[in-house]
Amino acid sequence: MIRIHDFGVNVEAYFQLGKDNDFPVIPSCPHCRLKKTLHRHGFYARNAIVGGKVYRIYICRYRCSDCRRTMSVLPSFLLPFFQYTVHEITNQIHEALARRIEGKKACVQHKNTELPTRQGIAYYLRRYQQCIPWIQSYFASRHEWIHPCLDAGFQWIKKIKQRGVEMFIQQSWGHLSAYFLANCFRA
Ligand SMILES: [Zn+2]
Repeated sequence: MIRIHDFGVNVEAYFQLGKDNDFPVIPSCPHCRLKKTLHRHGFYARNAIVGGKVYRIYICRYRCSDCRRTMSVLPSFLLPFFQYTVHEITNQIHEALARRIEGKKACVQHKNTELPTRQGIAYYLRRYQQCIPWIQSYFASRHEWIHPCLDAGFQWIKKIKQRGVEMFIQQSWGHLSAYFLANCFRA
């Protein structure tokens, strides 16, 4: 299980702090609901890519002393299974949809290998399109709507960016047992 947490720092600072980041105290087990602080249970390393730079960062793992199951805490600038930060991903989705609306061709393939490839961006777009009903459902639960329109996907990504991507992801985390761009929206 993964939980998201705002460490109050950007990728660079999180990377520099390494195992000294301000990891949260988890007061109860999300699996068995035992109200007992979870033990820290080591780290694993994963990539966070932003601005053409790859950071190898530590993710903290926790374990319940009762049911022995684990959970990890991901900084809110990342999503599970995506190496690029949420800012990079949402910017790419936003730009790709803007290009589509304006009828422009995608720009020339980047030579920089640390930027998402065209296939990568197409993948983000697919995931995004699949999760639009979930986004609508989340905002509807907060009594926020946009008028039905052809470019609804574009309007939603604009709204999410206006809200603040990390804020949106934190607040919507767990809505209908899912999260932004989770791999569970396939029809
Ligand atoms: Zn437990």
